[in-house]
Amino acid sequence: MMLKPTVLVAEDEGALITLLRYNLEREGYRVLEALNGEEAILVANEQQPDLVLLDWMLPQLSGIEVCRRLRSRQETRNVPIIMLTARGEETDRIRGLDTGADDYITKPFSMTELLARLRAVMRRIRPSLAEDVVRVGDIEMDRAAHRVRRAGQDVHLGPTEFKLLDHLIQHPGRVFSREQLLDTIWGSDVYVEARTVDVHVGRLRKALNGIGERDPIRTVRSAGYALDDTFAA
Ligand code: CA
Repeated sequence: MMLKPTVLVAEDEGALITLLRYNLEREGYRVLEALNGEEAILVANEQQPDLVLLDWMLPQLSGIEVCRRLRSRQETRNVPIIMLTARGEETDRIRGLDTGADDYITKPFSMTELLARLRAVMRRIRPSLAEDVVRVGDIEMDRAAHRVRRAGQDVHLGPTEFKLLDHLIQHPGRVFSREQLLDTIWGSDVYVEARTVDVHVGRLRKALNGIGERDPIRTVRSAGYALDDTFAA
């Protein structure tokens, strides 16, 4: 199975959806669709896209409200959002960014520009200082391509699991407490229960162990978690 970055297209204009799907798929993205605001939130929660292309004018819930709700939920808090706005909605654009959109594009837009912006946002969410490709044992993480492989096979991770692995893989063997992971992955100004860390470690584990022979994540009782640097030996 090839891992492709997943883009959720939340848009109600059929012709534009078709055009976006065609071009995004040609660029190697997997495309999910939502035709209204409610559906956008549902799909984002369930499918954990890597990026959301969000139309400003959506039925049921406006793009701005969708953006707000995605930002307020644990599962979708960190997903990059690019707003699609109509020309001239100057105030709306600014509000869009205030609400937590990462970028906006004015309709009508050129597909070349949209794809470039999308690539830029994808690049921005990866840690910029470290190497693009990191390997520990049989796990390989390519930040630039937002791709994880184990034993040569693609592993599909949600945004939180990706960050979690990214952090663990930079410090193999080191034990991190749930609180440390909370601060690093979610930020210290956000209230998240420690149990949430367990849930995401569980998901990461499940994704990695669907392929590999040994569980690379060590649970240290009452201390936390570590990526075992000896698991591939
Ligand atoms: Ca629309």
